[in-house]
Amino acid sequence: MGGYFQNIKDGFQSVFEGMSVTLASMFVRPVTVQYPEVDISTNETISRNYKSTLMGMPPNYRGILNVDLNLCTACGLCQKACPIECIVIDNVKCDKTGLTDKDGVAVKNRFTQKEALKTRASTRFDINMGKCMFCGLCVIACPTTAIKHTNKFEFNQSSLEELVLRFVSDEERSKAEARANEIDEEAARKKAEKAKKEEKAKEGEVE
Ligand code: SF4
Ligand code: SF4
Repeated sequence: MGGYFQNIKDGFQSVFEGMSVTLASMFVRPVTVQYPEVDISTNETISRNYKSTLMGMPPNYRGILNVDLNLCTACGLCQKACPIECIVIDNVKCDKTGLTDKDGVAVKNRFTQKEALKTRASTRFDINMGKCMFCGLCVIACPTTAIKHTNKFEFNQSSLEELVLRFVSDEERSKAEARANEIDEEAARKKAEKAKKEEKAKEGEVE
């Protein structure tokens, strides 16, 4: 008999618990986001449009990738880390002392003198967002935090080709290649001079 009444009590309790959640939601102000008219990709626009009732994308959201070439040393670690070969990097052995970024600021300012002389420069840095599975492995592998996920998620394109993000412009590629050629020529000249000096020294010894 005791079990019978206990079952009735438990039944009422579970119905009450379920209904209390439903009732509580009646007093929450409903929010309808007018997407895509309203930009919901940033916290600023979200808080402007919806006060504090909605949050923007979380900080660890893995959206479209972005690369800051001013921080990138073209080491290729992100390319190696990508399990499905989305990233293609070509680089030239080139110090950054003669390069400027898109705003005309000397790229070497971003590095120590030693780093600026040692780094490579990308002549191609493509990411195929059509293939990317947003795993974030490339971001983890990057030693300079140059490659990062943004909170942007809209990337509709009309062709597969347009899904490939190209971070190195033709102008930047030409500049890097020209600088690499200069460095090669300088190295070849120094080598020739050294060889000449050594030859002269040998001739002197023979005489
Ligand atoms: S997020 Fe993953 S799949 Fe996408 S480029 Fe990076 S490593 Fe490759
Ligand atoms: S791992 Fe980072 S620094 Fe290296 S090539 Fe990729 S983005 Fe550039």
